[in-house]
Amino acid sequence: MNTPSHHLDDDLLLAYVTGAATEPLALVAACHLTLCMACRERATAAEMVGGALLDAAGPSDQLSPDALERMLARLDGDLPVLPADARAGADVPFVFAGVSLPRPLERYLARDNQADSRPRAFRFLAPGVRGIDLEVTAPPVVRTRLLRLNPGVEIPRHTHAAPEFTVVFAGGLSDGGEHYVRGDVRFRDTGAEHVQVVDPEGPCVALVVNEGALLPRTWRGKLVSLLFDR
Ligand SMILES: [Zn+2]
Repeated sequence: MNTPSHHLDDDLLLAYVTGAATEPLALVAACHLTLCMACRERATAAEMVGGALLDAAGPSDQLSPDALERMLARLDGDLPVLPADARAGADVPFVFAGVSLPRPLERYLARDNQADSRPRAFRFLAPGVRGIDLEVTAPPVVRTRLLRLNPGVEIPRHTHAAPEFTVVFAGGLSDGGEHYVRGDVRFRDTGAEHVQVVDPEGPCVALVVNEGALLPRTWRGKLVSLLFDR
């Protein structure tokens, strides 16, 4: 098992541990956790600290009653943030379209709908880019997709109206002087302009959560965003 070099930041890790993360971001966190022992240890530590804080704080603290409830449920293992806790399935990936994926993705890729037992299939999004929309509970503007990018594909310079989170599962991609491979998490904040280039050796498969539309910076980028944002 490789060791990722780009990890969950503290905010996302804590949001996941406390059950406060939205479903798309909980999925990002869970997928990374299945592939990263270092962050699993951080998550365990955060749970212990969180539990101690809750014990000490009592009901009149600054947390909303809902946050307290969610955290306790999460600590008790009663909150079904994901079908299987990331750590429980940490070393049991499943294979989808020839790629070994983290177990938390499994149910999102199982089938198109109740009447159709076939597994989900990638659809064309843009030249060299195929994707599967994952059904998550989130505002409509949030896109949660498993993307398959062809070798050498370049996503033209663009920025974002909202944060973007990526977890790479196969292949690699370069972005802003950094290189991302299996298990790595990439976070781009609102307004961060970037170009992404897929490694030439093979396709890149990644979970990508966009919390808002792409804002292209070039005409070529505008064309691609028309294809992507649909
Ligand atoms: Zn990590």
